[in-house]
Amino acid sequence: MLDTRELGRRPGSQRTVTLTAEAPAELGIEILGVPEGSEVEFDLRLEAVMEGVLVTGTATAELEGECARCLEPIEDEITIDIQELYLYDDSRDAAAASDDDEETDVRRTEGDLIDLEPVLRDAVVLALPFQPLCQDDCPGLCTECGARLADDPDHRHTEPVDPRWAALQDLAATDED
Ligand SMILES: [Zn+2]
Ligand SMILES: [Zn+2]
Repeated sequence: MLDTRELGRRPGSQRTVTLTAEAPAELGIEILGVPEGSEVEFDLRLEAVMEGVLVTGTATAELEGECARCLEPIEDEITIDIQELYLYDDSRDAAAASDDDEETDVRRTEGDLIDLEPVLRDAVVLALPFQPLCQDDCPGLCTECGARLADDPDHRHTEPVDPRWAALQDLAATDED
């Protein structure tokens, strides 16, 4: 929660804020995310506008996860851009507003406070790669024995490991005759 009291409501009034918060649970996607309780650093500029508070800046957080191809642990850092307008929560009838807001995705201040968590959540999920990789060209795992090919690029199997594959190869060979 971010306190906007010092900012005031005079349009054009600005303040920069740096703050560190603990990451909430389940921030990210299943395979890659910000560890719960790790530090998230916000570097923000608050600006009072006519209808609310404009928040712009960045959030920097640790990332932990695993490579989508070879399952090697990944540790990284992510910096996310944040840009969000929080409308003053007293600018409209609160009951009517909360119904509309769910559909229109409007964010509102809560008194003098701003809740950064939902914005952080959305921004992190958008910024994460759909398929995190330990390296851009991770070759993944050997389909036959599960060895990590990045560790052993020349990895080959001359003999099929699984006898069922051997049987299939025999069939294929017979077809060609
Ligand atoms: Zn990998
Ligand atoms: Zn193998």
